[in-house]
Amino acid sequence: MRLPALSALLVLAGCATATRTSAPQYDAFAVKFGALANFRVRGLIAGADTARRIDATLMVWPLRASNGDIVMVDAGFTRQKFIDQWKPVDYVTPDSALRRAGFDPARVTDIIISHIHWDHADGVERFTNARIWLQRDEFEYYVGPNGESKAPAIDADVAAMYRRLFTQGRIRFAEGDSAEIRPGIRVHTGGKHTWASQFVSARTPRGTVVIASDNAYLYENLDRARPIAQTLDSLSNLRAQRTMRALAASPGLIIPGHDPAVMTRFPAAGTGAVALRE
Ligand SMILES: [Zn+2]
Repeated sequence: MRLPALSALLVLAGCATATRTSAPQYDAFAVKFGALANFRVRGLIAGADTARRIDATLMVWPLRASNGDIVMVDAGFTRQKFIDQWKPVDYVTPDSALRRAGFDPARVTDIIISHIHWDHADGVERFTNARIWLQRDEFEYYVGPNGESKAPAIDADVAAMYRRLFTQGRIRFAEGDSAEIRPGIRVHTGGKHTWASQFVSARTPRGTVVIASDNAYLYENLDRARPIAQTLDSLSNLRAQRTMRALAASPGLIIPGHDPAVMTRFPAAGTGAVALRE
C-alpha cells in the first residue's frame, strides 16, 4: 500500500512540475508616451525634500504572449483637457507610442487598469479590441450608476466613460487579491493609492516581473521602503511593497509607475521602449 501511494505522489509531483514549466510566459516591456517635467518629488515620496524635482515618466506596460496577443497594464491618457492642463513633454498618444515601438495596438486583447486616475485609466478607448480589467471594488467605489464621479480621485469624464464601457460589456472585474487575469498574469491588492488600486505580476522567461504602477511611484519608494505620497493608508502601501518583493524574481524586476530610470535600466526594445529583463 505504501509503495503505490508514494509513486502516485511522485506522478502528481511530476505533473505539477510539468504544469509549472509549460505555463504561459510573457515578454514584458515598458513603453514611454511622455513625461511630466519638473514634477515635485514630494508629491511622489512621502516626506521628500520640497526642493527636489523629477521628470515623471508616463508609461504603459505591454505583456506580449507567444502568439502575439498583448495584455497591457494601464492605458495612459488621450483626452485633450488633460494634455492642456498637465502639458506633458514628448507626448504621443499611448497607441502611437506602442506603434512607434513596434507593437500593434489591435493586438491588445486585455488592459489591466491599476487604478482609476486619469493618467492611467483614460486611454482605453484607443484599444478597441481590448477587454478592460479593474477591481470590482475600484469601479463600484468611484463610478456612479449614471456615470457620475463618486469621489474626487476619478475625473468626471473618465467616470462617464467607464460606465459607458461597462454598459457595452467591455469591463471585466477582478475580485480581490491574487486574481488570475490570464494564465501567468495575476493582479494583487495594491497599497491604497486609490480605494482598490492593484498591481500586476507576470511570468516571463526570466522569472516573475511585477508592474507596481503607482503603488510605488519611484524606485526610491521601494529601495528605502518609503510609502508613496498619495495613499489612503501608508502601512498598506508598505505591505504591498513587501508583497511585490516576495513575488518578483528579483527586486530589480519591480517596475515603479513614474520613474525615469525604468527607461535606462533595461535594454532598449524599439523606439521609446525597454524590455523588462535583467
Ligand atoms: Zn500615475
